[in-house]
Amino acid sequence: RSQQANSPARVSSLFLGRSFSTESNPIRATLFPGDGIGPEIAESVKQVFSAADVPIEWEEHYVGKEIDPRTQSFLTWESLESVRRNKVGLKGPMATPIGKGHRSLNLTLRKELNLYANVRPCYSLPGYKTRYDDVDLVTIRENTEGEYSGLEHQVVRGVVESLKIITRQASLRVAEYAFHYATAHGRERVSAIHKANIMQKTDGLFLKCCREVAEKFPEIRYEEVVIDNCCMMLVKNPALFDVLVMPNLYGDIISDLCAGLIGGLGLTPSCNIGEGGIALAEAVHGSAPDIAGKNMANPTALLLSAVTMLRHLELHDKADRIQEAILKTIAEGKYRTGDLGGTSTTTEFTKAICDKL
Ligand code: NAD
Repeated sequence: RSQQANSPARVSSLFLGRSFSTESNPIRATLFPGDGIGPEIAESVKQVFSAADVPIEWEEHYVGKEIDPRTQSFLTWESLESVRRNKVGLKGPMATPIGKGHRSLNLTLRKELNLYANVRPCYSLPGYKTRYDDVDLVTIRENTEGEYSGLEHQVVRGVVESLKIITRQASLRVAEYAFHYATAHGRERVSAIHKANIMQKTDGLFLKCCREVAEKFPEIRYEEVVIDNCCMMLVKNPALFDVLVMPNLYGDIISDLCAGLIGGLGLTPSCNIGEGGIALAEAVHGSAPDIAGKNMANPTALLLSAVTMLRHLELHDKADRIQEAILKTIAEGKYRTGDLGGTSTTTEFTKAICDKL
C-alpha cells in the first residue's frame, strides 16, 4: 500500500461506472460557484482548466435570490436539471444560516439528486510536511439520511426532538459503493464506523447492512470501529485505516478530522455519487466567510475535486497533468496560501499552477 500511496492516478480516481457520454466535444458540465470563497476558487478552476486545454464547457448556475417553489429552496429547478442532464458537475461551498431560514442548499441538492455517497479521499501531499507523511484514507459518507433527515420539532416548550433516520436501503447502497470502491482501487480494508453500542437500532441496522455486503467481498478485510475509538486511532496512527464507511454525521466530522491530519480543509477534495451515475464534485470545506472576498482562499481542495470529475470523465491525461502541477506547486513552497503558512494570494497560487501546465 505504501508504494502506491500518493500515486496521482490512484488517489483521486473514483469507481463510478460509466454513465456519461464524451461524444459531445466540448463536454458539458454544471458549475455552481457557490457562496463566500466559492466564486474565487471556482475562478481558479476555470483558469487552470483553460491553461490545460480541458475540453469542458461549463454551464454556470448561481443560487437564486428567491425560493423556487419547484425545489422549495433557493436552488433553481434549472440548475438541478442541468446536473441531471450533464451527469457531471462541480460545486463550490454553499452557506447555510444556522438555526433558521430555508432548507439547506446542500441537503436539497443531495436529496433532489439522490447523491447517496460522498467520497472523500485524504492523502499526505508530497512536500508538505505535517505530523504524518503516510496518510492515505478514503472516507465514504452516507449522504442522504441519519441526523440530516431534517426532521426536527419542538415537543413541548424547552424540549426539542431531532430524528435520526437509518434505512436498510440507503445503508446497503452506501456499503456496496464502499466495497466496490475498495475493490476497484486495490484497497485492502473497509472499516464501518459506528456507535451501535448506544444507538443500537439505527447504527445497529447500519452495521448489519455493512456485514451483509462484506460477505459478498471476501477478498476485502472488514472491521467495525466505534467512532470515539476511531477518532483516537486516526490521530495516533492514520495508517491503521484504509477505506472508512459511515453514517452521515460521522462522515461529516471524521472527514474534517482527516483533513486536519494532512494540512487542513484547503486541501481535501470530495465527490458526491448519485443514482443514475451522477457525479457532483465539491471541496470538503464550507464557504469560509472569514476570508471570503480577500483573495486568500486555497483553491486546492476544489481543484482536486475538479480532478476527480476529470477522472470520472476518463480524461486521465488532463487529470494527471493538473494534479501534478498542483502538487508540485505546493511542494516547491514558493507559492502557498496562508492556510499552508505561505503569503500568496489565491490568484498568485493559481498562476503558479497554470505556469506549470
Ligand atoms: P468552513 O469550512 O467554511 O471554514 C472553517 C475554517 O477553515 C475557516 O477558518 C476557514 O477560513 C477555513 N477554510 C475553509 N476552506 C478554506 C480554504 N479553501 N482555504 C483556506 N482556508 C479555508 O466551515 P464553517 O465556517 O463552519 O462554515 C461556513 C459556512 O459554510 C456555513 O454556512 C456552513 O453551513 C457552510 N458549509 C458548506 C459546506 C458545503 O457547501 N459543502 C460544507 C461545510 C460548511
